[in-house]
Amino acid sequence: MEDTIFLTKASLPSYDEYVEEIKTIWDSNWITTFGPKHSCLESTLMKFLQCEKTMLFTNGHCALEMAIQAMGLSGEVITTPYTFASTTNAIVRNGLIPVFCDITPDTCNIDSQKIEELITENTSAIIPVHVYGNVCEIETISEIAKKHSIKVIYDAAHAFGVKYKGVSVATFGDASVFSFHASKVFNTAEGGAVCFDDIAFGERLKCIRNFGLEDADGIYPAGNGKMSELSASLGLCNLRHFEENVNKRKKLTEAYVGCLADIKEITFLKKQKDTVSNYAYLPIKLSNRENRDFLYINLQKKKIMCQKHFGIITSSFSCYKDRFKGNTPIAKEISEKILLLPLYADLREEQVIYICDVIRQLIEERNF
Ligand SMILES: *Cc1c(COP(=O)(O)O)cnc(C)c1O
Repeated sequence: MEDTIFLTKASLPSYDEYVEEIKTIWDSNWITTFGPKHSCLESTLMKFLQCEKTMLFTNGHCALEMAIQAMGLSGEVITTPYTFASTTNAIVRNGLIPVFCDITPDTCNIDSQKIEELITENTSAIIPVHVYGNVCEIETISEIAKKHSIKVIYDAAHAFGVKYKGVSVATFGDASVFSFHASKVFNTAEGGAVCFDDIAFGERLKCIRNFGLEDADGIYPAGNGKMSELSASLGLCNLRHFEENVNKRKKLTEAYVGCLADIKEITFLKKQKDTVSNYAYLPIKLSNRENRDFLYINLQKKKIMCQKHFGIITSSFSCYKDRFKGNTPIAKEISEKILLLPLYADLREEQVIYICDVIRQLIEERNF
């Protein structure tokens, strides 16, 4: 009998590696506010993500909210409801109006063919999400943005380390925002980053990250977005093992696909062409809500944790329902069919085989 198999498990370096990394912090007593670990992680990530500039933040949400503020947007922002609460909340909390665009079933990303019809004279930006690390239709989105002189901020929280046609995902749009939360492929416990190349934007963002202060004067009404030295140290350690972890996730993903390939009831999202994946999540698609919910309940009864994704699309949240424009039937339908299965670097292949056996049994017993 197996113990509980969790949906995800935070990647950690060895205890000794972390202790070694933080020794200098105990010597200097510098535990937060732009210390040496912070600047080391910023420059290391800049190289790793192959972008002009990387700025660290307390968490991914804070990074997104502050990137939106620094971009100086107004009016309406076209975005996707098939995302984590953070994307929509960051738009609304900046006093902007989200306009919801539908998604494509292949990637679960914003459907670039449906963006232009939503643009009005009040539109100032597009905020797409690279869902499950699938890369958005960046060429089309960039053409639309250029044509209408609007900004693009990618919520790249799922896409750390992803490359498209050999180019890092961090370089797309006017800014790309990452989350380094414990549940993400690369973590600093809590943390996030904004990648960009515009110097003036960077100056504003830097100021906004630090309460909007400039020489004791407040020039923006802003909060606190600073990452601590302890988080930055964890990031420096975790980054050393990132590639090895992605390779482990890749093997496990292939094991899942191999084991479940002959089950007609289950489909995987299509593998993207020209893309280096980070294997961040393992979404499977069922044919309807009843079957998805049946698997969800019964896998948990067998101590296999899984997640309905995204349980409720953000446009249907109690706080947003009927408040904003956008008809998104595909997003709604997909959100009723997707289930995330356990995936993390330390998951063992035997556990994947066990999970797949349980899924097979449940499907056969129910005969759906
Ligand atoms: C995790 C996540 C965020 C928020 O990141 P935090 O670091 O948890 O604040 C934003 N958007 C998406 C799509 C996410 O998955």
